[in-house]
Amino acid sequence: MNGTSFKTRFAPSPTGLLHLGNIRTALFNFLLARSRRGVFLLRIEDTDAVRGHERYARALEDDLRWLGLVWDEGPQTGGANGPYFQSQRGPVYARYFDLLLERGFAYRCFCTEHELEAERRAQMAAGRPPRYSGRCRLLTKEQVQERLAAGSPATLRFHVGRSTSVEFDDRVRGRQLFRTEDIGDFIIRRSDGTPSFFFSNAIDDAVMGVTLVVRGEDHLANTPRQILILQSLDLPLPEYAHIAMVVGADGSPLSKRTGSRSVQELREGGFLPLAINNYIARLGHTYDANELLSLDGLAAAFGVDRLHRAPARYDEAQLLHWQKEAVLRAPEDELWQWLNAAVHPDGGRLERLVPPDLVGAFVQTVRENVMTPLDAYVWAGNLFAGVAYDSEARDVIGRAGEAFFRSALDCLQGKEADFRSFSGTLRAATGVQGKSLFMPLRAALTGAVYDSKWPRVWPHGPALERIWNLLGPARIRRRLEEAAQLAGTE
Ligand code: GLU
Repeated sequence: MNGTSFKTRFAPSPTGLLHLGNIRTALFNFLLARSRRGVFLLRIEDTDAVRGHERYARALEDDLRWLGLVWDEGPQTGGANGPYFQSQRGPVYARYFDLLLERGFAYRCFCTEHELEAERRAQMAAGRPPRYSGRCRLLTKEQVQERLAAGSPATLRFHVGRSTSVEFDDRVRGRQLFRTEDIGDFIIRRSDGTPSFFFSNAIDDAVMGVTLVVRGEDHLANTPRQILILQSLDLPLPEYAHIAMVVGADGSPLSKRTGSRSVQELREGGFLPLAINNYIARLGHTYDANELLSLDGLAAAFGVDRLHRAPARYDEAQLLHWQKEAVLRAPEDELWQWLNAAVHPDGGRLERLVPPDLVGAFVQTVRENVMTPLDAYVWAGNLFAGVAYDSEARDVIGRAGEAFFRSALDCLQGKEADFRSFSGTLRAATGVQGKSLFMPLRAALTGAVYDSKWPRVWPHGPALERIWNLLGPARIRRRLEEAAQLAGTE
């Protein structure tokens, strides 16, 4: 990148699939880096012994790429500060563990889980907050050597000095002050030798040159510990911006029930990356513009000072709004590719239904009425494979009556290629006009009067004139005849 030193990062723990909440953190960091012409770094925090890390790491990289959130530094891309998987950074951490030991900021702790639990219980019984007493700090060098020689498992704890405080300016939450007496000496290396989150996360931010950490406010209370570690090592401190969590419509944490979905589910559900990005970028962040923006556009107007302190409420209707916008604005060839890439529950593909010479016209016709590739597939089936009348369409056809459709068939002669001329002639012939004219025609030609899947988004299907042109004379005639028969039997 260019000479600026501004750097953000996304540092997921690959313990599951990325969800809306995590990708918001990724997107905010990405947009900030882009807006400042800085670097967006990806680091995989895979230090705990959880199975499936590799699979999830690969999945999250795919998800980020699919969303267009490409990283400038990180796995695959490389960079000057690798490796970017924490599981491969043991030697880096070892150096800083040694330095903390040397400087007296860390000590070995031999307390067993059982002992710690007893200590916690006693403190709570005495009405005190549970906090490590610091007992092992009092061990002499010889005692430590003896226990190590005897093979006793040891963690490494950070020694938090008493009666001082840690202060920092959070870019979202303002001035923060934590008293160190509220922070017990905490573990920075587990007894299996792996670093704890507090430690590896802080060290990596510092040595990888991250200048701004944007993360969920669930990490706010970790920050003073991380600052203490970095200060003890004379490492540079990043700035912090702790963003409010995303909650469901009812204010409870975002979950499956309240609409949270993995990126994979969103992708399979037919959402476009740009729709997701436009929605998420506004989830707890204000834009002046209400129109669909490209990633560059989203970045240009993104600012930490525009992040909200209050929790962001997830709203499915908003996601659908941006999806509709993204479908409306996508270039025709991209839209066709996206619609056609989907394989539907019956194993079908769009290109099997849409005649090649009508692809462009089809896309332009349905783009105002589809949210997902499946919707387009349903429209294509309806237009080119065969019409199925829903109950409302049957009613409307029945009410119009057989004579109306017989007239329509008469008026069709010579007007097959010109909907306006056809409908004008039909109006003159029948005296029927407006809604009473167009609704029965719509019902006959498309099988539906209302868009039943997205009635609140589009009251009707695509413009009748476009449908007319797509269907072509033979299908139009067949459908009008079918409607005449149906009306005769209703
Ligand atoms: N690995 C941590 C997580 O996924 C990173 C937190 C942070 O961004 O500092 O929660």
